[in-house]
Amino acid sequence: NPANRSYLIGGNWKCNTTTSSALSLVSTLNSSGPIPTNCTVVVGVPYPYLSLVRSSLRSDIELAAQDCAHSSKMGAFTGEVNVEQLKDVGCTWVILGHSERRTGFGGDAGETSDLIAGKTLTAVGAGLKVMLCVGETLEERESGKTLAVVKSQLDPVVKVLKASDWGSVAIAYEPVWAIGTGKTATPEMAQETHAEIRSYISTVLGSAVAAKIQIQYGGSMKAANCKALLAQPDIDGGLIGGASLKPEFADVFRGMM
Ligand code: PGA
Repeated sequence: NPANRSYLIGGNWKCNTTTSSALSLVSTLNSSGPIPTNCTVVVGVPYPYLSLVRSSLRSDIELAAQDCAHSSKMGAFTGEVNVEQLKDVGCTWVILGHSERRTGFGGDAGETSDLIAGKTLTAVGAGLKVMLCVGETLEERESGKTLAVVKSQLDPVVKVLKASDWGSVAIAYEPVWAIGTGKTATPEMAQETHAEIRSYISTVLGSAVAAKIQIQYGGSMKAANCKALLAQPDIDGGLIGGASLKPEFADVFRGMM
């Protein structure tokens, strides 16, 4: 890309894997050859397997959690996992604001952009890096609201972070209609939205932050389509769900040698 940003390739295992399938993914990654120097690779692992994966995975692949508590405090927060605990087990990243968390699950209300902003502040404050997910539904895209939706997801974060905190944040643009559906945004379509996001970041945070921030594409990215997406000037990586559970995940970063 023109600004010399490096690539960020994240795998998002979501609520998948068991001890044995996690270890088998680790073993595939461990034998997948060198990571290109212009590329950071991170895997987002379910809480129960974070320690296991960290202790068995090659050290040049980083570890992410898929969420964290809003507060960094220990205490009476049943069911929560905080950023200090994530660091303690070797996480350097956390995925926040994934559309699946925004929507909620069976009776769960789902996370608001304000809550996600609070979690982002907590994570960055603790020294974790954040893949901050944003993206529109099909209905929102078809009614021309893509950028308005993404802005409304970014604005609460812009409000709470200091400009310097943005060095610890990557934005994962994940159109909801492309997640897990096999429908990928075309490289041109994704590039257009990535460029709009970068230009919005430039407006609200200045051109230096905008030039530096990595914007990942997510939504049915896989070995077969990653090259065309990553060739776009404003696409600086991927956040990969389904294909990160397969050996082909390694082909994504290996292809960038
Ligand atoms: P997908 O998921 O690659 O399976 O579409 C991407 C994501 O949800 O991060």
